[in-house]
Amino acid sequence: MANVWVFVEEGDDGPSTLGQELLAKARVLGDVTALYLGSGDDSAFATLGEHGASTVVHIECGDRLASGPVAAALADKAGADSPDLILFGQAYNDRDVAGRLAARLGVGVLSNASDVTLSEGGVETSHEVFGGSQIATAEMTTGPFIVLIRPKSFVAEATGGGAPSVSTLELPDVGASEARVTGSHAEDREGPQLGDAAVIVSGGRGLGSAEAYELVENLAKPLDAATGATRAIVDAGWVPYAKQVGQTGKTVKPDVYIACGISGAMQHLVGMKDSGTIVAINKDPDAPIFSIADLGVVGDVHQVLPKLAEALADR
Ligand SMILES: Cc1cc2nc3c(=O)[nH]c(=O)nc-3n(C[C@H](O)[C@H](O)[C@H](O)COP(=O)(O)OP(=O)(O)OC[C@H]3O[C@@H](n4cnc5c(N)ncnc54)[C@H](O)[C@@H]3O)c2cc1C
Repeated sequence: MANVWVFVEEGDDGPSTLGQELLAKARVLGDVTALYLGSGDDSAFATLGEHGASTVVHIECGDRLASGPVAAALADKAGADSPDLILFGQAYNDRDVAGRLAARLGVGVLSNASDVTLSEGGVETSHEVFGGSQIATAEMTTGPFIVLIRPKSFVAEATGGGAPSVSTLELPDVGASEARVTGSHAEDREGPQLGDAAVIVSGGRGLGSAEAYELVENLAKPLDAATGATRAIVDAGWVPYAKQVGQTGKTVKPDVYIACGISGAMQHLVGMKDSGTIVAINKDPDAPIFSIADLGVVGDVHQVLPKLAEALADR
């Protein structure tokens, strides 16, 4: 049975959703060790077990920046334990640690993968290219295989696994390359979050102004939806970066995605095209967003959105 390591970061409430998605894949590939970065407690370790980890290696960094010491410690551990595959998510700390770990082990990294399979002596990964219209495959035969997986590639699901065995990873002193976190800022967040919401209402430049984003929020409220945005309106300062959906923002996969005044640039589509049902509202009947929409309304967002919100309120 393959020895599969999965890097899982702590989220707001235990193991992150991205980490749980990776565990869902890892458990069908082999015996799973979760490398858990965070303060950790019995409840978090139990959750990792329920998602398929038979072993948990707890990594606590305090105010130390994870990448240097964690990569050094994992490189030593990999030498002793010989993992076949090490899965990371396509996220900041994951990328930092994966790159440094690969350099220490003298192996490559396959990044931005949407699927991974193990074969005799190798690993094969799938990568979406040209906005997901084509799938490229890559293969690596020198292990341990380090693979970075895009969010929402797999469905996070507990399988009711038992309590894992837990050990702690000692972090070495990495000398001059050591960096410390001197401050962090938690963005104000309220209501459903983009990563978890069943419904997302997103706004683009077609709204015309920062104030008009209220139309998106008013529609989101009765739907219990999260609110998203294109990079155009994030760059314009209308909404914070945390709301950006797309290539350089979040990848989302809600049941319903409502795109309001969004043209449908490839860099936006790549972050939301796998949504269950896509509804687009745009005054241009030739807007590219209509090519992937299940339902399209050709109209002005300033007229359509208040009417929709009103109709929902009536129901
Ligand atoms: C490297 C790179 C990375 C990028 N990453 C991202 C990313 O992560 N996410 C992202 O979103 N973009 C990203 N972009 C930007 C992307 O290419 C587009 O510029 C952006 O998505 C366009 O945003 P938009 O649809 O809001 O604006 P526009 O393209 O300007 O579209 C506005 C739309 O609104 C419609 N409209 C105008 N007025 C109204 C009205 N009153 N009612 C209804 N419809 C109306 C117009 O017909 C138009 O279709 C990236 C670009 C690059 C180069």
